[in-house]
Formats: sequence, C-alpha cells, structure tokens
Amino acid sequence: MRQCSRYNYRAQFQPSFDMLLKDLSAMLLAGDYVLSSHVDEFERNFASFNGSAYCLGVNSGTDALLIVLRSLGIGPGDEVITQANTFHATVAAIALTGATPVLVDADDESFLIDSTAVLAAITRRTRAIIPVHLFGKPTPMREILAVSHKKDFLVVEDAAQAHGARINGRRVGSLGIAGCFSFHPSKNLAAAGDAGAIVTNDATVARKVEQIRALGQRGPNEHVAVGYNSKLDSLQARILSHKLARLDDWNAQRRRVAAHYRDALVDIPVSFQRQDADEEHVYHLFQIRCEWRDDLLAHLKRSGVDAVVRYPVPIHLQPAFQHQGWSRGQFPVAERLANELLCLPIRPDLTEGDVGFVSDCVRSFFDHAIARRGA
Ligand SMILES: *Cc1c(COP(=O)(O)O)cnc(C)c1O
Repeated sequence: MRQCSRYNYRAQFQPSFDMLLKDLSAMLLAGDYVLSSHVDEFERNFASFNGSAYCLGVNSGTDALLIVLRSLGIGPGDEVITQANTFHATVAAIALTGATPVLVDADDESFLIDSTAVLAAITRRTRAIIPVHLFGKPTPMREILAVSHKKDFLVVEDAAQAHGARINGRRVGSLGIAGCFSFHPSKNLAAAGDAGAIVTNDATVARKVEQIRALGQRGPNEHVAVGYNSKLDSLQARILSHKLARLDDWNAQRRRVAAHYRDALVDIPVSFQRQDADEEHVYHLFQIRCEWRDDLLAHLKRSGVDAVVRYPVPIHLQPAFQHQGWSRGQFPVAERLANELLCLPIRPDLTEGDVGFVSDCVRSFFDHAIARRGA
C-alpha cells in the first residue's frame, strides 16, 4: 500500500553526509564539547541568516523563551500576553518565570493572534507580548509593534515554527526585542535531538541571555544571577550548520508543496490558513480546516497518510493551567480550530506524486461522504 509520512531525515543529510560524519567523529575525539568554536560558528551563521546582531544557542525552544523572559526581568506580578491556540511551551515558559500568562483568541482566518483582542487584554501590568508565527505564517508585526511602543511593553517572537519566514522582507525573529527558535527534530531546521536559539539586536539582552544560559556566570567562578544550565550542544551546532545552508531552498520547496495542495483541493469543502501578499510563509505545517475533521483524519490514516492534529486541546482547556481560571467558550476561535484543523504531510522532498496521492485520499473521503448522504 502506498504511504506518505511526515518526516524524512535521510533526505535532510544529503548530499554531503560523509563529510558531516567525518567532522562529527573528529569532534568526538577532540573533546571540545561545550560552547566550542562549532557553537560560535552556528551562532554567527544563524544571526546573519536572520539579519540579527546576536544569536545565543540553548537547550531547546522552551528554554529560549524562558531565558529571554528572565533576561528581560519578567517575573511574579507581571503579565505576558499570548494566544490561546499556541503550543504548550509558549505558555509554560511564561508561567515558569512566575509571571501571569494572559491569553487572547486567535484570528479565524490567519490562525494567528487576534490583534484587536490584544488591545483589550493590555493592563498596567502588561510587560510583554509573545506573538507566535504559527504553522510557519509570519504574524503581521507592524500593528503589534506600534501598540507595544505606545503602551510601553516588549515584543518577544515565538518563531519556533517559522525559521526563515519573512514579513515585509524581514525575517521573523529579528523584529521584536528577541526571537526564539526551536530545532526540535520536527521543525523546519532540525537538530538530532533537542536544541534552540535566541536572536536579538539588543546588546544588553544578548549579554544577559549569555549569563542566564550558563548558571548566571559573568566570568570564571563569578555568578551574578541564578541561571540555568542550557547551552546548545557542539555536535548539534555542527549538524545545524550543515543544514542551515539549505534552509531557504527547503522552505521554497515547502511553499511549492503547499501550492500544489491548494490547487489539488480547490473544490471540496475544506479551507486553508489565509495567505497574505506581504509574507513568505514557510509551511512548518500545512493545515486544512474541515467540519468533519475526526472522520477525515481516520479515513486518511486508514489510507496510509500520516496526518495529525496540531493541537487538539487549546491552552485554556489543559489541566496544567486549570488554576488560571480559564473556561470553555472563553476563546471560541481557538476551540473551533482545535476541533477543525488537521495537518497533511509536508516536507521539502515530497513529490507531485506524493501530493497527488494525499490529495486523492482527501477527495475520496468527500466522494464517500456524498455517496453516503445520497443513499
Ligand atoms: C516547538 C515549539 C516550542 C518549543 O520548542 P522545544 O524545542 O520543543 O522546546 C515553542 N513554541 C512553539 C510554537 C513550538 O512549536
């Protein structure tokens, strides 16, 4: 039976896998494991890729968010705004600083943070907002930055799903006070394990992040803050440098796959994340929206398509946040998206044949559904 899976790590290492393996074995024998020249090199390359002055590598995307918020002095008594339809890590990072997460609903067409709802959520205690470039679509940053200047709070970008995406020609992550990236194996730029990074143009933030990721150290045996031990691993940095050179090509291929899907699924009752003229989406996920999501998902899985739901339970209905007092019905768009979205497989190396196969499987669901209704 034909199948279509979501990941192909083999393809990510071609064409120069042997060269990478040689480098990695040399690194294992040299023993320079922590914050080596390989980490410096990746940090330089990733900063320049994003058009940012600084990049600091950390353990994960979650740590990137947590360490940035700590470096901005955010903690108990402060409020940080984000969206109810994000991945758990965005809100966990806020809560882990001791600050209060304030949720707002998503926009029904872009699936990004609803900027009108943001205005209503601002209070005297708002210190920051975290827009999430969800599924690889850049958030319209102009409006959010304008409000943040007027109301005097900071914008931290969660770019964990949007490496290389652009809005008005600028890379996401380089627009707010800092941008946070994850290199989890599922992301567009994937390490062989957990890894993450922070980019910023602010020298003070960069210096604080550098201290906080290394147990608050300013110099040898001088600890000026209580920090974390969260550094990008040298082996992961080497793997990431190897892949970074191809990221723009891969993202362009993802856009091509997405365009094929949109064409192939044009006259059936599913809808898509809105496209905007001033953006370069990087399609970390390709979402289709459908009223009969659960039945469609089951049909696709039976047909050999590795479809999945991201995310079936919105933040405000997760048991971990019960004490926040959020309730069902409070963020209706986020709830509808949790019930209606489904991700089709998307990877740079999918062929037209693969996209055709997956699209035919989606179509056959509706053919059957219509046949059933007609019967
Ligand atoms: C993956 C992800 C994170 C967390 O990254 P990890 O490296 O898994 O800790 C944060 N925010 C969003 C939106 C993500 O998709």
